[in-house]
Amino acid sequence: RVKENGKDDYMLHSGDMDHVALHKLTIQHEMRKALHNKEFLLYYQPQYDLASGQIVGMEALIRWNHPEKGLVPPGEFIPAAEESGIIVPLGEWVLEEACRQNKEWQEEGMARIPVSVNLSMRQFSERNLTGKVADILNQTGLEPRYLELEITESMTMDVERASQCLKELTDIGVNISIDDFGTGYSSFHYLKNLPIARLKIDRSFVRDIHQDPNDAAIVAAIIAMAHNLQLQVIAEGVETEDQVHFLRSHRCDEMQGYFGSPPLDSEKTQRLLREKHNRTALPVYPIRAAG
Ligand code: C2E
Ligand code: MG
Ligand code: MG
Ligand code: MG
Repeated sequence: RVKENGKDDYMLHSGDMDHVALHKLTIQHEMRKALHNKEFLLYYQPQYDLASGQIVGMEALIRWNHPEKGLVPPGEFIPAAEESGIIVPLGEWVLEEACRQNKEWQEEGMARIPVSVNLSMRQFSERNLTGKVADILNQTGLEPRYLELEITESMTMDVERASQCLKELTDIGVNISIDDFGTGYSSFHYLKNLPIARLKIDRSFVRDIHQDPNDAAIVAAIIAMAHNLQLQVIAEGVETEDQVHFLRSHRCDEMQGYFGSPPLDSEKTQRLLREKHNRTALPVYPIRAAG
């Protein structure tokens, strides 16, 4: 549609806003109902040790099994959930379900590996986050070291607050990782001062590792820096064998991505964790020196 004059432009714009606002209200209402009706579920994406090829962790990723739309990915409802505050009860459900499921798998004799849970800014700003996490660990019986919480760089902007909050969380024994590392507000100050266990290199840097020398340089630098700071480092969005080679040659610790496995529902995850006892999950190559 061609905008013919300023007025037309304005009308079109305000119409869009109404539509967006209405859509938000609808989705908020639907999410409240959905939480009550237990329409949310967790998928799990395995994380692989690059040296051994073994599964050493998994990330819990929320999905909405919508009665009409089917499986809805988080990108389509997490922003609205954050804006409306529904993310708080929803995020609590995610934490509880991830801990419960991990404990159940451990009880069934599957490998004891940590589960990572994404925290939203709203949850992170909640006064009693540590209390809630501690309660959930108590109720589910999961040992704190099997829970990792993923935060993003933007949540560390208020270093005072973040440092207080992360200290409380790490005091009870859970690990903290920085998700989408390199895409947000980055400060070496927080890396030096906050109790962080690992960095997750954002997949936007991993994607073009072989086409863009700048991306290759950034990934290599993040790995080296993480190790010099005694942090673990995992690459996100690994899709090809070449990327695996690059990461291994630079001694990246772990990888997560479609090359290993896409996120799986709980049944398929369970099957994979069972298999894991019998075979190496990721092809293992001889480690080549960096450079
Ligand atoms: P994230 O935490 O960075 O999660 C990784 C995303 O990358 C997932 O998308 C995953 O499916 C996708 N991914 C994994 N491997 C590959 C790959 O090889 N290639 C590509 N192109 N993508 C890959 P998903 O599940 O759609 O989640 C998107 C985002 O939604 C997450 O990004 C996270 O920020 C948010 N999210 C998911 N679950 C939760 C949750 O329970 N709470 C909160 N607050 N946010 C969540
Ligand atoms: Mg994440
Ligand atoms: Mg990420
Ligand atoms: Mg992301």
